[in-house]
Amino acid sequence: MLDGANPRFYAEGETLPAKHQLLIRFNDGSALAATVAMYGGLQCFPKGAPDMEENFYYLAGKCAPSPLSDAFDYAYFTKLLQGSERLSAKAFLATEQRIPGLGNGILQDILLAAGVHPKRKMLDLSQAERMKLFDCLKALLRKMTQAGGRDTEKDLFGRPGGYKTKLSRNNTLLICPNCGSPVQKQAYLGGSVYFCESCQPL
Ligand SMILES: [Zn+2]
Repeated sequence: MLDGANPRFYAEGETLPAKHQLLIRFNDGSALAATVAMYGGLQCFPKGAPDMEENFYYLAGKCAPSPLSDAFDYAYFTKLLQGSERLSAKAFLATEQRIPGLGNGILQDILLAAGVHPKRKMLDLSQAERMKLFDCLKALLRKMTQAGGRDTEKDLFGRPGGYKTKLSRNNTLLICPNCGSPVQKQAYLGGSVYFCESCQPL
């Protein structure tokens, strides 16, 4: 399941969503339903099907090391960047499934912590800035995972995650948590980016 696809488990007797893109009913009366908000994908393959082995998303998720693993180290991050230096920080980190699981929603807090503007070209980042970006990416993904996800998302049982997201559409104050400047919102590469012009200069 990708991006805006929200899977949810329903115990027997619970009201199922009227609108859904996927509904699997189990023999014991429970069900798994998934809805897609804005953009997403639900893909199902028989095991070993040729379609599966050729599927871009499946392969990206299966073959690339998880950013939570030790294999995803600074040397790997640098290798990943080779040939993609002309991309902006958002394009590099959160498009083309370059980093499994890292999408637009997760991106915002990582860039704020690293002090990198979403539109800044990766080749304009100094070595120290690249290392800081890598460190923030690893640390925040670990933190979000340990907290059971971001509080802007719900798990299979409808419970929000415990990580308090700093920059998202739910940040109604739209004030930078670091410096108090107004947070900017812009549509960029298929999703809104949120950033602080003071903490993340272009
Ligand atoms: Zn700021």
